[in-house]
Amino acid sequence: MSAGQDGPRPYRNYVYAYPHKTAYRRFPDRPVLRELWAWERKDALSLYAHLPFCEVRCGFCNLFTRVGAPEGLIGRYLDALERQAVAVREALGDAEPVRFAGAAFGGGTPTFLTAGELERLCDITEKRMGVDLTAVPLSVETSPATATGDRLAVLADRGATRLSIGVQTFVEEEARAAVRPQRRADVEAALERIRAAGVPVLNIDLIYGIDGQTARSWRHSLDAALAWEPEELYLYPLYKRPLTPLGRRAAEGGAAWDAERLGRYREGRDHLLARGYEQRSMRMFRRAAAPPQGADDYACQTDGMIGLGCGARSYTTTHHYSFDYAVNMTEIRSIVDAYTRTADFGRAEIGFRLEPSGDEARRRHLLQSLLQAEGMETAGYRERFGADPGEDFGAELDRFAALGWLDAGAPAGLLRLSPEGLAHSDALGPELFSPAVRELMGGYEAK
Ligand code: SF4
Repeated sequence: MSAGQDGPRPYRNYVYAYPHKTAYRRFPDRPVLRELWAWERKDALSLYAHLPFCEVRCGFCNLFTRVGAPEGLIGRYLDALERQAVAVREALGDAEPVRFAGAAFGGGTPTFLTAGELERLCDITEKRMGVDLTAVPLSVETSPATATGDRLAVLADRGATRLSIGVQTFVEEEARAAVRPQRRADVEAALERIRAAGVPVLNIDLIYGIDGQTARSWRHSLDAALAWEPEELYLYPLYKRPLTPLGRRAAEGGAAWDAERLGRYREGRDHLLARGYEQRSMRMFRRAAAPPQGADDYACQTDGMIGLGCGARSYTTTHHYSFDYAVNMTEIRSIVDAYTRTADFGRAEIGFRLEPSGDEARRRHLLQSLLQAEGMETAGYRERFGADPGEDFGAELDRFAALGWLDAGAPAGLLRLSPEGLAHSDALGPELFSPAVRELMGGYEAK
């Protein structure tokens, strides 16, 4: 890390889960899922289904997704997803009640699937996994071109409570610069259809730091989004990561680009706060008047997550696991094809092992709580780990305090980031990675 005169660089790594997938490795013993889940609580599980298909590859995207799908591939993918769901449900057993508290379909673009294929996905989720989609929050990601009336009708009918649409910008030249060409009129029409579908929560994703974006054009996109009164808005800084279309054109810019993104961030944050939104994290803003959303508000620290699909992760207390991972299109295609041919879904193949009360579990707890605007009650940490976060991470917390990243005015017993700390979330998160995780991430060969 370079802590120069101006402090650490603000954009290093978006930490939405710890450890990152690039720290995962093959488990030599291929643990049996039934054993991994045997001692877990199963009364408030989350389900995540991953659909790795998109119409285009956006210039900034390093998610695990492929462009298009040849004839028959989605059918084979759903066949595999169904086999996986059956195997995982069996692994959960029936010795105690199995209940899901929430579900999400992500990607990729889940609405790349046709209306009929989405029906099938919902059927698999309900009949094979046992998730009651009409009784729990269900969040689904979509895109302007695929948010068609028939697909939205299926999702609304099956219980979707939140639709999240990646708009990124309402300015057509910026959309082209981000390699995500789209017409403003098509975006507006998609938002119209989403609102007409009557799903309670609309989230709009926007990006700042696009080439050619100015304070004025950024404000224009924010206002265009606000016109739809979305319940949630996510503001993402642009990254130019290796192997993405933008990353191939140009490396990450230097200090000037960092300053530009920080400036856009502050403008966006202040604009939304002035218009009745509350900040939940560096990226997430929620309209204060919007009804609470149960599991969407839920910071999953201890409960299990079941991932279905080849890019999805699953979490137990002791194991995080998934399948192989890539950014390069050829590699992604071969991993998706391999997933569709998989017969045995009863074992964890690739992942990371954690001691339930060990150092990595503590780091994960601290990271995932501290990056939320509401902060972390130290009593909860103590209850779980038998120590105060200051005992475990004194040096790191002192350093954050010295950088002005901690809220010195937070009530006793609450560890909370200052506005500058939140702004520097993508610098602060990586500071809490363990040496072992750093080494694994550093040794990961991007493909
Ligand atoms: S940003 Fe979204 S729509 Fe674009 S390629 Fe990535 S997953 Fe697909």
